[in-house]
Amino acid sequence: MYRTGIGYDIHPLKQGNKGLYVGGIKVSDLYYAEGHSDGDALVHAIVDAVLGASGKGNIGMFFPENFENLNRRSLEFLEYLCSEILSGDFEIVNIDSVVIVEKIRLLPYLEKITESIAKALGIERSKFNLKPKSGNGFFANSIQAYVTCLLATRGDGSA
Ligand SMILES: [Zn+2]
Repeated sequence: MYRTGIGYDIHPLKQGNKGLYVGGIKVSDLYYAEGHSDGDALVHAIVDAVLGASGKGNIGMFFPENFENLNRRSLEFLEYLCSEILSGDFEIVNIDSVVIVEKIRLLPYLEKITESIAKALGIERSKFNLKPKSGNGFFANSIQAYVTCLLATRGDGSA
């Protein structure tokens, strides 16, 4: 059986040298995404898409804004997803994503981000796709991510 999920996230984009992280890769030293963890909108939207497809809830249920997750590297959330949520039950067929950010060009980082996400999820690079968008002047003060995920359930011949 196949199951789809959708994830969305948005963080305010601020000036400052904390580092802007997209898919676990630092893409700017001039801007950062304000948030409880490292503000990695792409990773947060992936977590929600995978949780949605698996029918197991949302990011806040697993990674609440508590002390443990303060300034945490979001990429660790993906590793937890694989070991605890997908474990033996689901296999990722593919993940597609859009990241909208105006102030930083993501194209030069596309390979690195793809590699980072694929490694954290333990999937082939061809199963993850990212489309960076500038937002055409509408979203100068934010970074947003839209993600869809298709999972196949294991053990019924579809995976
Ligand atoms: Zn977030």
